[in-house]
Amino acid sequence: MIAESVLMAELSWPEFARRIDGGAPVFIPVGATEQHGRHLPLGVDAVIPGWICAEVAKECGGMVAPAIAYGNRSQPRSGGGPAFPGTINITATTFAWLLRDIITELYRHGARHMVVINGHYENVWPSVEGIELALDRIGRDPTSGLKILRIDHWELVRPETLARVFPDGYPGIELEHASLIETSIMLKLRPELVALSEVLNDGPARFKPYDSFPGLVAEVPPSGVLSETRGSSAEKGEWLLADVVERVRRVVSEEFGQGTTGAS
Ligand code: ZN
Ligand code: MN
Repeated sequence: MIAESVLMAELSWPEFARRIDGGAPVFIPVGATEQHGRHLPLGVDAVIPGWICAEVAKECGGMVAPAIAYGNRSQPRSGGGPAFPGTINITATTFAWLLRDIITELYRHGARHMVVINGHYENVWPSVEGIELALDRIGRDPTSGLKILRIDHWELVRPETLARVFPDGYPGIELEHASLIETSIMLKLRPELVALSEVLNDGPARFKPYDSFPGLVAEVPPSGVLSETRGSSAEKGEWLLADVVERVRRVVSEEFGQGTTGAS
């Protein structure tokens, strides 16, 4: 049933307008098209926030805008870098202006509550910049009712859950690229896209604590996996996602109040 979809791309304009009039928050997933080892698809960073957005939107009467599925440049120490086939880098400037334009247009159509959910490490600051650029255009008048939240999904996992997922210690999110967190989440969400038999176990990477330009970094493991996939499971993926969805839900209700049940 089209009318029940939370995906903006599946709604007619009158249905979009009806939901915006009802105060529906708009979720904007931002990710990347980037190598994720030999065992995961290129779209991981967009698939995960897209799923989280849809899950929360269903419950709070929200809508999900089409994702930004290209990310700010992959870097060797956090994504393996540009040397891997299929990694499509866009500049921070392009990314920020794209997000700025999307937010500005949603605002023009009446959206006042927006949630940007990010799945790609290198998008962190460019997404902040995109929001700031939108505010430069729209203005920062508190009476406009505009409120934009920005979330990196991995930040919402509880420390207790990280301790359960990583009994030997959490390596940190930069090194987690294509590793246990993303592999476990994909095993939960899209197991048919995960090829564990392709894993090389050639990590973890041992990076110097600085970047060197130009060129490829020799310390990137050949597989593109920066840490380890060992110990990944759909069950761990479920724990991680449950934390994030519950927290986003709570944040949306606290930040946007009762106005979040506009649709339906
Ligand atoms: Zn990723
Ligand atoms: Mn990434």
